[in-house]
Amino acid sequence: VLVLQGGEVKTLGLILSVAGTFLVAVLVLFLDIFLQKKVFGPIAVYTRFVKKVSEGDLNQKIEEISSGDVGKLGSAFNVMLEKLREIDVIKSAFNSVAAHQLRTPLSGMKWVLKYLLVGDAGALTDEQKEMIKRGYETNEKMIQMVNNLLYVSRIENGKFGYEFKENDFSKLLEALRENSDIVFKEHGIELDIDNHVPVLPPFIFDFSNLLIALQNIVDNAIKYTPPNGKVKIAVDKEGDLLKITISDNGVGIPEAELPKLFTKFFRASNVVRLQTEGTGLGLFITKNIILRHGGSISVDSVEGKGTTFTIHISLILKKESLDSNA
Ligand code: ADP
Repeated sequence: VLVLQGGEVKTLGLILSVAGTFLVAVLVLFLDIFLQKKVFGPIAVYTRFVKKVSEGDLNQKIEEISSGDVGKLGSAFNVMLEKLREIDVIKSAFNSVAAHQLRTPLSGMKWVLKYLLVGDAGALTDEQKEMIKRGYETNEKMIQMVNNLLYVSRIENGKFGYEFKENDFSKLLEALRENSDIVFKEHGIELDIDNHVPVLPPFIFDFSNLLIALQNIVDNAIKYTPPNGKVKIAVDKEGDLLKITISDNGVGIPEAELPKLFTKFFRASNVVRLQTEGTGLGLFITKNIILRHGGSISVDSVEGKGTTFTIHISLILKKESLDSNA
């Protein structure tokens, strides 16, 4: 039988307590490593994955599937995403078929209404003319809507179709002004194109597509600015980039909704409340066209005060590198 003296009992107690503390520390360390590897690590990966998917990027896959229940969650995410991709493909196909099927009768209607309107089918009373004019304008809006659906499905299928060649930017500005002139007058809004547009030699861009992109922004500026408002366009050269700003003093965009601005079908709550018409496709199309021009687009907006879109496009695009249609 081992008999311990007072001092020895103390020493043994000390040794046991140090050993105990060491054991607990080792256990905590192992637990931490285990949790990091098996739980927190995968959860961080899944969180990044969910964030990207929720921002609209469906081309994701969780590669590092761990074991156990956490791993099963990762596999379930992958299956869910596969289904989302399938639905997205069906939705794009529906978009494309619907838009193509609608375009033919709408075009037919356009020519019939025009034929009546110009009096080719006989003289009209003022009242009849007014009614047909309204029908014609409504039909035009529907054609615009269908065109936007077609543009979106072409963008998504990589078949938007670009024709890059040397063009004169001042002609594009002139076309923009001509297309919008009547609407500006109808809405009682003043258009101010800054006189200090730099003189630019022709450079490579797609005239009709860039016109679609900028026209969308100008049309929005008119649509979302009350009568007597002002829309301003300014152009500047910044190194190898052309900077175009389009600002208005209209209804603005709620700050919390700005991150969704360039996504498909987005319409801000304030303009929905005002019962303005729109599909929420214009800015998605615009952004894609600007990106294809080696550029960027950003927005500054204060609700109730106004909005400024800032666009940069490249002045030194090389035609050879742009020849694909997508
Ligand atoms: P829409 O057909 O609704 O105009 P867009 O894609 O062109 O679709 O614009 C998306 C949304 O962005 C609009 O519904 C509106 O809420 C907001 N928006 C765009 N431009 C402006 C602007 N100049 N002023 C205020 N809101 C704007």
